[in-house]
Amino acid sequence: MTERDTLATANERYADTFSHGDLPTPPGRRLAVVTCMDARLDPARFLGLEPGDAHVIRNAGGLVTADALRSLVISHWLLGTKEVAVVAHTDCGMLTFSNEELRSRLADETGAHVGDVDFLPFGDLETSVRDSLRAIRDSPLLPDSLELSGWVYDVRSGRIAEVREAAGVA
Ligand SMILES: [Zn+2]
Repeated sequence: MTERDTLATANERYADTFSHGDLPTPPGRRLAVVTCMDARLDPARFLGLEPGDAHVIRNAGGLVTADALRSLVISHWLLGTKEVAVVAHTDCGMLTFSNEELRSRLADETGAHVGDVDFLPFGDLETSVRDSLRAIRDSPLLPDSLELSGWVYDVRSGRIAEVREAAGVA
């Protein structure tokens, strides 16, 4: 049995008692969250979000990449979000490899020419959060009025700690 069967069974159970069919598209709390895809993170639960409350944009590292910015632009301008929380986490896999290591492994495993693709590993959690906040601040496509906050979630305790934007940034 693969996950495919398990997923379908779980969904049948979910749909049996489903009660969120009439939620509007715009997030009710006008909030967007950018966080990591890490399987241990359950942002809805650790941030107290109900269905319909917020956009949750996830990728490896919880980084404000070009694609995350694309989602934030749509989130803000088309769906009315006014606040963004960037949430990194302790023990993140992105702290554990270098571009060179991953490129070399991919070349070995796939034979594909990996070139200079940047997989965006980082060495410091708080710096990565500040870089992401700055990427939002610096985007000409998002307004200065957007409220920003940065956080590091601790996978051992379940608690979040705030990371302030870099000094000199409004
Ligand atoms: Zn992570």
